[in-house]
Formats: sequence, structure tokens, C-alpha cells
Amino acid sequence: MEPFKIKVVETIPQTSRRERRQILEEAGYNLFAIPADRVTIDLLTDSGTAAMSDRQWAGIMLGDESYAGSKNYYHFEETVREIFGYKYVIPTHQGRVAENLLFSVLVKKGTAVPNNIHFDTTRANVEFNDGLALDCVIDAGLDPNADLPFKGNMDLKKLEGVIRQTGASNIPLCLMTITNNSGGGQPVSMENIRKTRKLLDQYGIPLYFDACRFAENSFFIKERETDYRERSILSIAREIFSYGDGCTMSAKKDGLVNMGGFLCTNDRELSQSITNLLILHEGFPTYGGLAGRDLEAMAVGLREVLDENYLSFRIRQVQSLGDMLHKRGVPILRPTGGHAIYVNAGAFLPHIPREAFPAQALACAFYEEGGVRGVEIGSLMFGGNDKTTGEAKHPELEMVRLAVPRRVYTTRHMQYVAETIAAVYERRESIQGLEIVYEAPVLRHFTARLRPLEEQNAKVRN
Ligand SMILES: *Cc1c(COP(=O)(O)O)cnc(C)c1O
Repeated sequence: MEPFKIKVVETIPQTSRRERRQILEEAGYNLFAIPADRVTIDLLTDSGTAAMSDRQWAGIMLGDESYAGSKNYYHFEETVREIFGYKYVIPTHQGRVAENLLFSVLVKKGTAVPNNIHFDTTRANVEFNDGLALDCVIDAGLDPNADLPFKGNMDLKKLEGVIRQTGASNIPLCLMTITNNSGGGQPVSMENIRKTRKLLDQYGIPLYFDACRFAENSFFIKERETDYRERSILSIAREIFSYGDGCTMSAKKDGLVNMGGFLCTNDRELSQSITNLLILHEGFPTYGGLAGRDLEAMAVGLREVLDENYLSFRIRQVQSLGDMLHKRGVPILRPTGGHAIYVNAGAFLPHIPREAFPAQALACAFYEEGGVRGVEIGSLMFGGNDKTTGEAKHPELEMVRLAVPRRVYTTRHMQYVAETIAAVYERRESIQGLEIVYEAPVLRHFTARLRPLEEQNAKVRN
């Protein structure tokens, strides 16, 4: 059951099917263009969407908005040092800024940064600094049907291959994303972290964690890795970070706040260079682009996220949504990861060709059926025409991600989501593909406008 009771409520918007059809049409069949107050259950992202606790809200009232030396900064710093164990703690307003600051100093032309799988903003920030972002996840991590406990693990052979090919001196750092967001929120095992560290030590390469979902990863280690059953989440987290030289963090995930992030390192010189950039781009080092009250909420959230009752509920809630869908025959990626369910739209709608955006059509169908908003991860997000050949290219998988916000929805809400999706599954053959009527030259999925193919065919017939 939910390990919390509800003290403040927010009314959930309810709309009729007729209204939702009109909303979809007005939004150009792009769920990013739908106002949030027209969405019944919003599973667009788990980032910055958490509900804060009474203690976090109390912390907001303790905000010390002094420009320099705010007491909230010291509380935040002490909390981060205790959990993460690194010497230097640099606040930022979100995770991507931490990435940008770190890579601005370390990455340049001719360097490469390996990771299990780079998250979009991480890859973009490495590439923006002219570095090469390389993915070294185990092969099973890319197989939607491989049922393994730690599908986020680094493939050590691939990693060593990359080091040999690029030369250790051209690898300023190796990253490890816990849990592996772009690979379905799959965890990394402690054994794999330890071995990765050992390999990197042979070449003198620092290891940094992309730590956004570190508590969820720690919980998976406790559940799935022998030797860790009796350990507290805090001690598991500490052990993870003890194998690294620092981390980047988006506190919008396991910080349980709506905005915030930070960067840690043990390297004094590096922390000085980064602090100089921080002052230029974000603000003075004791606030880093955040209000004092935000730092306080983050300090409290980072402790609350280690609560085993919370984590057990969190992971089970996502798992049970996956189980309900699986039982009804809905094709999803398995095993379920920490923060989201990935519906396999290719298998759900085999009658829609890739050119007609099956995953986008499916995401729209979920909205039309029950006001449930997920996000397309498929041909609209990653497809397009090859710049040189002009040929259409598609990503490996067509998926709709249903990300579950932290502490926001109840189990009954998840049942509603499962019922909505099952109802769409029952009428799947009636779902039509889409075509683009407008697209931007980059990141087109955010602003594209589409229309049902059926409409176009009808017009041609007329
Ligand atoms: C969200 C996320 C980021 C970026 O964090 P923002 O706070 O959105 O800038 C980086 N890495 C991973 C794995 C993430 O999930």
C-alpha cells in the first residue's frame, strides 16, 4: 500500500471522449501540445513531477535567501556528503547544467566518454563539447525480451575495446547511469560497478555516476544481489559512490523535488574550474541557480528517498502496472524498470507501418481512450531522413513510455491506466496511422503537428 497518507489534494481533470478527440485535433496529435489541465493521468515524465512531503514543505518555510552562505546550502552540502561521500558539492538548477559544467572542463575534440547508455542531455552535452559519446551496455540491455536482473550493466569487453581504440589519455572520464534511463530504467549491479572501477583503474580513468535514480538502483541491488539483502539503502548507496570520483545528479528524480540538481567531485582543481563556470552561468556557489528554500527541500528529499518503505512501494507500483498490462496481453518491455513502463507499440499495432508513426498513434489512442498521457519513443522522436542519403531511418523500437511520477498517483490510478490501455488493446485494429503536417528541423517531436492518415485518404476519395 501507499506508505503515506494524503494531506493536500489536487483535483484530477476529467474530460469526455468527445472533448478529448477535439483536444487531440487542436494539438495536432502531439501530446506535448495538450494543456496539462486537460490530462487525467499524466505519465509524460517522472522528472520534476514528484509530490513533496510535509517535511519538505516545512523546509521551504525555512528558506534562508542570503546571497552568500545560506544555511540551507550547508544543510544540503552535509546531506550530499553523507550519502554520496564526495568532497566538493556544487548545486545547479538541474542535471543537464551539472553535465555541461563537468564536460566543459573535461571534454574536448578527440576525446571520448563511454557510458552504459548516455541519456539524451548527457550525449548532447558531450557532443556539444566536441567529444564522442559511446554506449557500452551489455547486449541484453538492448533486447526488449531478455529477462535479466541487471540489464543496465556495462559490458566490460566493449568498454576495454573503446579504451584501447581511443587511448586512455583521450578518455577524460567514464560515466555510469544508474538506473539506465535510456535502456528502460534498468539497474546496474554492485558487482558490475566494482569491476568497471577495477578496469578503469588499470588505465587511470576516473568514474563518474549519472546518479539521477541512485536510490531506485540501490533498492534493486538490495533485492536482487546476494550479500546486500541485509544492508540499508544508505549503506548500499554509499558503497556505490565509493567506487566513483564524483557524480552528476538531477534531483528532479530521486531528489524528490520539482527543480534542482548538483555535481560532486573529489578533484579539487576540477571543482575550482567548475565553480568559476558556475558563477558565470548559474550563480554564487552556495546557491547555484536555486533559491535557499529549494536547497532545503532537496536536502530533505534526498533523505526521504532512502526510506525502504517508500522505495518498496515505488518499485512495486511500477511493477504492478507492468503486471496488469502483461496479464491482459499488452506487449511491454520486460522486466519492468524503476520508473516507467514501456509499451511495445510495434507489437501492439503491427498493421501500422513505421512511416505512419505507430507509437505516436498509440500514445494518442491512450489519451483519447482515458485521458492518459505517455510519451512516444519511436520514429517521431528518433526517426527522420538521413542527412546524406535522404533515406527514411527508424529507431530499433517503437515504444510508448508511461513514466510514473513519485508519490503522486495511487494504486487505483494505476488500475485505471491499465484498464484504459487494455480497452485500447481490445480495439487495436481500429487505430490508424498518422502523418506529419509540420516538423521543426531539430527535436521535431516536441512541436510537430500531425493528422490521421484516414482523414487524408477520405479527402483524396472526395
Ligand atoms: C533527467 C536526466 C538527466 C538530466 O537532468 P535534467 O534535470 O532534466 O536536466 C540526465 N541524466 C539522466 C539519466 C536523466 O534521467
